[in-house]
Amino acid sequence: MFQQAASVDEFRQNVETIEARIEAARLRSPHGQLVRLLPVSKTVPEERLRLAVQAGCHRLGENKVQEAHRKWQAMADLDVEWVVIGHLQTNKAKLVAEFASEFQALDSLRVAEALDRRLQALGRGLDVLVQVNTSGEESKFGLAPHEVEAFLAEMGAFGALRVRGLMTLAAFTDDTQRVRDCFVTLRTLRDRLRQSAPTGVVLDELSMGMSGDFEMAVEEGATVVRVGQAIFGARALPDSHYWPS
Ligand SMILES: *Cc1c(COP(=O)(O)O)cnc(C)c1O
Repeated sequence: MFQQAASVDEFRQNVETIEARIEAARLRSPHGQLVRLLPVSKTVPEERLRLAVQAGCHRLGENKVQEAHRKWQAMADLDVEWVVIGHLQTNKAKLVAEFASEFQALDSLRVAEALDRRLQALGRGLDVLVQVNTSGEESKFGLAPHEVEAFLAEMGAFGALRVRGLMTLAAFTDDTQRVRDCFVTLRTLRDRLRQSAPTGVVLDELSMGMSGDFEMAVEEGATVVRVGQAIFGARALPDSHYWPS
């Protein structure tokens, strides 16, 4: 279904195609938002990533911290910002603090505390999105929607974390209405909490939508879409390697 891009031109073409589809969806959206495309480069080896960077991808999303950290080291000669979009265990907070420019999967105070401590030691700050489980699937990481308000109230304790918004993974299903409901849940939660957000917490960003559903996410207000396979080609590793099942 998704072709492997094998040259700078092919990457450029894929990115242009996705951006045109994002823009068309944005024009259909009543939310008037700007939308950023975050290319997701997990499993893609360094040689091919270098082509994507040449094609203009200067922010890359990675699900697994060690894989991302390895690529960051190997590609330190390039102008790339790394965004960690997958669940983090506290014992890997040190790695994220070292190299990430954004972390989109914050879902526990323990991880917030561990990240903040490491970041303070390095004198760095980090943009973060709070991950919300909008599908109700037990296998999904993220806070339940009703937990988010109390969670945000605790963020003032973590001076190195700049909360910028919310992130979700929609239900994995062919039922498009269920997928859309996940996006609507995230947007309405954001709109409600925005009014009363604590000082320092900004809820501008909604990171939602992937290769199969990013247009729907944009129609429902996404400001960041995380697209892997539609840019880089089908992945060899099954999704269960990256997501609990
Ligand atoms: C892999 C991944 C994506 C992108 O999925 P594609 O199907 O490749 O577009 C988005 N978000 C997260 C959290 C991911 O791990």
